Amino acid sequence: MDSMPHLQQPTMSVVQRSSALKERVEFYRKKGQRIAFVPTMGGLHKGHLSLVKHAKVTADVVIASIFVNPKQFGPTEDFDSYPRDHTTDVAMFEEEGCHVVYIPEVEEIYPPDFKTVIQVPALDGVLCGASRPQFFTGIATVLARLFLQVNPDVTFFGEKDYQQLLIVKQLVKDLGLPITVEGCPIIREQDGLAMSSRNKYLSEEERAMAPALYQEMQKAVQEMTSGKKIESVLQVSKKRLKDLGFDIDYFEVREIASLALVEKDITQTSRLFAAAMLGNTRLIDNIEVSLKS
Ligand code: AMP
Repeated sequence: MDSMPHLQQPTMSVVQRSSALKERVEFYRKKGQRIAFVPTMGGLHKGHLSLVKHAKVTADVVIASIFVNPKQFGPTEDFDSYPRDHTTDVAMFEEEGCHVVYIPEVEEIYPPDFKTVIQVPALDGVLCGASRPQFFTGIATVLARLFLQVNPDVTFFGEKDYQQLLIVKQLVKDLGLPITVEGCPIIREQDGLAMSSRNKYLSEEERAMAPALYQEMQKAVQEMTSGKKIESVLQVSKKRLKDLGFDIDYFEVREIASLALVEKDITQTSRLFAAAMLGNTRLIDNIEVSLKS
């Protein structure tokens, strides 16, 4: 008979209903605890877990969510095949020290008569938004819903999705939500490939080729900061990637706050943004372009 009191940490709660989530949040609030929120679509890797690590530093309680948001996928995109392994994901969140994982059904986020869309047009028409018109409206809408349901003090997003991070910051500011939005650095595989749930789609051959994107980005940044013309550097990089089998969506330098295109001189810290298809897998990445010293 086990008469010893259990000494280990209380186990993480997994909740599916917003009402159950609300109860947990009220419990923490009554205790005066600071709540961090890490939204994800699952298919977890060390990039996601790094957000939880950052969250744990500044908050008492970490709530993560797993929701593959139908509104951010186009009709020909990978909504159906997107990695869904809740058992593994929940175990990974628990191992990392999350307190609650919210895994809502679609109706919990979008009831049948849901009609609202949220848009941040000043930032969503370029880069990923140009080729995926529904994408950021879907993201802004789901995050507004999740923020209101979770009611966190602080939320963590990866710079891997840099445009998304800017859009979330703007949305939170414009709606006056009392939430601090924190960006976290990109976590990479040892060979430089930015971690992504979609990397699972890559064939062995494509996986071996994939780091070439980041390598080319590093090369381009080095050349631009050493004084070479942006336009010609980008052109050469794009050609080289094309020759390796990448189908490039964009490969361009933009300002870090407005996302305005930087075509001539780098007069302020900017970022090189890239998106490309490798076979059927969309890879995205970005990297800082610092001012010449
Ligand atoms: P996702 O599940 O793809 O919607 O991503 C959930 C969160 O994890 C977003 O804030 C992403 O920016 C972040 N994230 C995804 N991949 C990485 C990575 N390689 N490094 C850092 N953060 C990441």
